[in-house]
Amino acid sequence: MASLKKLTIALAGNPNSGKTTTFNNITGTRQKVGNWPGVTVEKKEGHVRFGDYDLTVVDLPGTYSLTTFSIEEIVARNFILENKPDVVVDIIDSSNLERSLYLATQLRELDTQVLFVLNMADLAKDKGIVIDADMLSSLLEVPVIFTVGNRNEGTPDLLKNIISVAESGKGPPAERRVRYSQDIEKSIAVVRNLLQEHAGEGFPYNPRWTAIKLIEADEVVTQLVSKELGLNAAPILDETTRQRNKISNLFDDEPEILMTEQRYGFIAGIVREVVKRSSIKRVDVSRNIDLVLTNRVLGFPIFFFFIWAMFQLTFTLGAYPQTWIERGVELTSMGMTQILPSGLIQDLIVNGIIAGVGSVLIFLPNILILFFCIALFEDTGYMARAAFLMDKVMHLVGLHGKSFIPMLMGFGCNVPAIMAARTLENEKDRILTILINPFMSCSARLPVYVLLAGAFFAEKAGTVIFSIYLLGIVLAIVMGRIFRNTLLKGSVAPFVMELPPYRVPMAKSLMIHMWDRSKLFLKKMGGVILVGSIIIWALSTFPQNETLVRQHEIEKRQVQTTFAVRKPNASQQAINVRMMEQDKALAALDRKYLAMAKEESYLGGIGKFFAPVFAPIGIDWKGGVALFTGFVAKEIVISTMGVLHVTRDDSKKGLAEALKQSGMTPLSAFSMMAFILLYVPCLATVSAIRQETNSWKWTAFSIGYSTTLAWVVAFVIFQGGHLLGLG
Ligand code: GDP
Ligand code: MG
Repeated sequence: MASLKKLTIALAGNPNSGKTTTFNNITGTRQKVGNWPGVTVEKKEGHVRFGDYDLTVVDLPGTYSLTTFSIEEIVARNFILENKPDVVVDIIDSSNLERSLYLATQLRELDTQVLFVLNMADLAKDKGIVIDADMLSSLLEVPVIFTVGNRNEGTPDLLKNIISVAESGKGPPAERRVRYSQDIEKSIAVVRNLLQEHAGEGFPYNPRWTAIKLIEADEVVTQLVSKELGLNAAPILDETTRQRNKISNLFDDEPEILMTEQRYGFIAGIVREVVKRSSIKRVDVSRNIDLVLTNRVLGFPIFFFFIWAMFQLTFTLGAYPQTWIERGVELTSMGMTQILPSGLIQDLIVNGIIAGVGSVLIFLPNILILFFCIALFEDTGYMARAAFLMDKVMHLVGLHGKSFIPMLMGFGCNVPAIMAARTLENEKDRILTILINPFMSCSARLPVYVLLAGAFFAEKAGTVIFSIYLLGIVLAIVMGRIFRNTLLKGSVAPFVMELPPYRVPMAKSLMIHMWDRSKLFLKKMGGVILVGSIIIWALSTFPQNETLVRQHEIEKRQVQTTFAVRKPNASQQAINVRMMEQDKALAALDRKYLAMAKEESYLGGIGKFFAPVFAPIGIDWKGGVALFTGFVAKEIVISTMGVLHVTRDDSKKGLAEALKQSGMTPLSAFSMMAFILLYVPCLATVSAIRQETNSWKWTAFSIGYSTTLAWVVAFVIFQGGHLLGLG
């Protein structure tokens, strides 16, 4: 006869959750009662045969947590750590789910197979509490079963599940444990990496858990690490101290308090997802605030007010420093024009580098303000509520509420928005969010719409621009759904929307979070924009046509000679007028030759080569060239068109006039706006996509599909409009 397979089962749970009852249900009367070695805490151990198995069942002392505050906690934790039972069964009082989940999530953090038993199912029912066990099971990746201990209901089911968990062979899942806030996760990662480096494979405890406990200053674990690693422990413990100080400095609280808070936030999120009807009285402050802020009726208006206020601040307040920087860029470029001898180098520095980098730099104030507001939302805990509110809306796209934040930020700038997608744990969700994000029309595209709509739609301009924004949102939803059903198949990953308690944010932490993001933006975009500007400049400057340059010189001199002829005794005023006229004439000449030079440049060549592609969507080669340069930054579309359409003067009005005379119609202008909305996002965004997807394949796909879509949509608009006789 085959020998019985031995399994050790530990029962854990809060006091009075029904552990002993369950223990008796499983083992019947075959039990041994004693004390745990060395301490006078009751120890019950029983054996039972179930099928081919010989089960050793251990009733652990009842605890609310797995810290080291009481002897019961130490005994329970040590048993799991040292004896490594095959399955830990967590007996949960269903009528008190929230309280029980604290221990449950801590068990989840340990490397042990866990099974949740929702005991007292009868009491929960009486209290009107309905628990979605499937949801709970998928959120924490733990099998969940219901029992009623005192009536011995569910015991066979429990035994069957214990065996299948033990036999499943797969370890506990790596994900879906409690996640802490970014700063704390960073510290955990640092300590954990160091631990793995020094301890190697032989280290008997889960490295993440050990790192967490070290950061929480858990005495027992600290001693364990010292004992296990001997001299190697010192650098780890030093680093732990450093990380602890960093966290306390940032938040003005002990790490263990913050982490406990965040665990409760995680649990509050689980309870919201899992408990469908609850009559439990809500008492604490955060809950009371939430009653208003996530209220079904009030929540949305309040949320939209905050968002409106954020954009208001970003653009209204940001406009002041923006004009200062603009002025600074202008002055620098004027200064450079004077200092440097005119020629290629001057042209490169002024029209290539300063103009290109300057066009990004002027957005810095807006970005700082936007990131400040976002840091404020995050640090107070409001962001989690916003995601919670938008969850249903985002399901339209096949995403959940957390993706809403990147989408929203996209209206400001897609670069930080795509970076914000980092907060999504699920890779498919992240890629999907990144793919549709550029359709959220960023603020750099707005000036182009303003120009085109202003020129061709007059008083209807506002409505037209709004319709472009709407088009972006609708297409994001449509494409999101398509991708979700094809390339990024899968249902919306279940996840816990953490609802951390509200906190008064610390100024220091706000500043750090704001600056961290802005720094990233500046560093990366500065580099990319610099290189891109130089390339576009080179493409639009070369090859140089010597004849054209010479002819420009000749005509220039002609103008100068004409104006040099003055009436013998002209008044000073008349001379001044004459000088001004000369300057005007020279500027017009410069513009004429600049336009001719651009037309003959590589960029002009590219534009003309692709003219057949742009023709069916109502865009001429000049528009095509402008769109190419728009790849560096979308607002550059305007300045390129300004150069190519020889305008009477440099003003926007002059350009609008020139565009109207160029044969553009309201229909082709609308088609062009749609194209600008959808086609390849700017260089900085593309580089952010590359960075965040960490894949050239997805980057290329993003560029390819958005540009194709842009063309198709513009084609439908332009040709469809024609058929309808609109232009
Ligand atoms: P322990 O402290 O976790 O060992 O909890 P016990 O097993 O001693 O149970 C505490 C009390 O809850 C006892 O009076 C049990 O009869 C009762 N109890 C256990 N399970 C259930 C259940 O599913 N429903 C109800 N109504 N009572 C239960
Ligand atoms: Mg008991």
